[in-house]
This record gives sequence, C-alpha cells and structure tokens, in this order.
Amino acid sequence: MKTRLLFALLLSARVLAQQPAAEASASPAPPRISYGSAHVDGPYIALTFDDGPHPRLTPKLLAILAQRHVKATFFLIGENVQAHPEIAKQEAEAGYEIGNHSWDHPDLKHLSDEKLRSQMQRTDDAIKAAIGHSPAIMRPPYGDLYPAQRKLVNKEFGYKIIIWDVDPNDWKDPGPSVVASRVLAETRPGSIILSHDIHAGTVAAMPQIIDTLLARGFKFVTVSELIAMDKPVVKKAASAQQTQPSASPAASATPTP
Ligand SMILES: [Zn+2]
Repeated sequence: MKTRLLFALLLSARVLAQQPAAEASASPAPPRISYGSAHVDGPYIALTFDDGPHPRLTPKLLAILAQRHVKATFFLIGENVQAHPEIAKQEAEAGYEIGNHSWDHPDLKHLSDEKLRSQMQRTDDAIKAAIGHSPAIMRPPYGDLYPAQRKLVNKEFGYKIIIWDVDPNDWKDPGPSVVASRVLAETRPGSIILSHDIHAGTVAAMPQIIDTLLARGFKFVTVSELIAMDKPVVKKAASAQQTQPSASPAASATPTP
C-alpha cells in the first residue's frame, strides 16, 4: 500500500515537474510564413512593385532605381514574364528580388487548391526560365489568401507570403504627387511599400519618393533581406501584427489591372 502511494506521489511529482518543460516545448510560435511588415532595429524598408514586367514603364523604373542605387522587389505576373522574360532577367541581374504574383492575377481565394498550385507553378516555371532560379516569396493578388492556402504555398513551394503595410492606392491613378505623399506619410522602419510599375503615375512618383526617403535616412533592402532582419516582438504586438496585414488589404481589396 505504502509503496503504491509513494509510487503514485512520485509519478505525479514527475508529471508536475515535466509540465513546464512540455508547455515550453509546445509554446514556441511556428515559423512565421506571412509578413505585412517587419520588426527591425534599423531604418530598413522594402519597396515593392507588382503586376509587371511592363514593356515601357518597367525599364524606365529600372533606370530610376539604378541612378539612386536602391534595392527593390518585383512581384511578377507569370504571363507578363512569359511575354517579357528579358525584363525579368534584367531585374534579377541588377540585384532586385523577384517574387511570384500568380499567372494571370485571379483572386486566389476563389480557386481550388489544384488551380492555386497551377497559378503558382506556371509562374514559378516562367520566372525560373527567365532568371535561372525560383523565387523565395509570393504576393497574392489583392493581398487575399486563406490561412490554409498560405500554408499550402509555403509548404509546397517554400514561399514566404508577403503583403504590405504601406498602400498608396496607386492603381487608381491619383497622380504622382498624391502617390508620393501617401507613401511618405506612411513609411516607417520595417515597412513593405506596395506599388505597381504598370502605372505611369507611380513610376513618375518614384524619384520624389526615393529621394525623400533617402534624405530621411531610410535604407532600401529587398523583401527577403528585410524579413531576415525581422525580430520577434512581445506576444500582444505579434498577434496584432499578424492580423493586420491580412485584414487591411482585404478591406481595400478592389481589382487592380
Ligand atoms: Zn497585383
């Protein structure tokens, strides 16, 4: 009797002792797969351009970026890469990062897993053919992707899902000065700035945007460089941060060309 009691006591003591360890091993957050911005120590930002390559405007933009020696990231449409692989190649060779932005810009939330895979795979193939390697990142059109779909593209393609925290709504063509003032008002360290190199007004706004951000001390890095600098924050802020990116683009989700 005594032995059994002692054994039971010892067992419960062991269970109790193990509990904190078991909890600790279960509690670390799973690796982050989606980013709307990054938590960084320095004045680092990522400027991103969606929907290209555009045969006339993208080369113009590349010249503006090269003159200022700033890095940028391009989220490309597969069918546009197929039409202008030389521009995608030029972007990669100049040191800019290339991401997957789907084959023909559907709302991926409306697609079956099979069609989602096809949108990702065809674009991955076109980018790989143009620049020699697959992208490491993707951005869903309209910023829309269900959590299960995010897991799918991360698991099957290895992509991180990149949204944004600065949105000048440049696809509505509000004019270069409005695009510039919106970006300049919202950009902070760790920001991921959304814009489109298929709109003349956006490209025209870039010299002012880049020159002003440089004058403010910001440093331009690619998206992958920015998220590599991301630091975990206290739990409350982290969960607020994770819900924000998916929520805000969805709210402003309206078709872009
Ligand atoms: Zn787009």
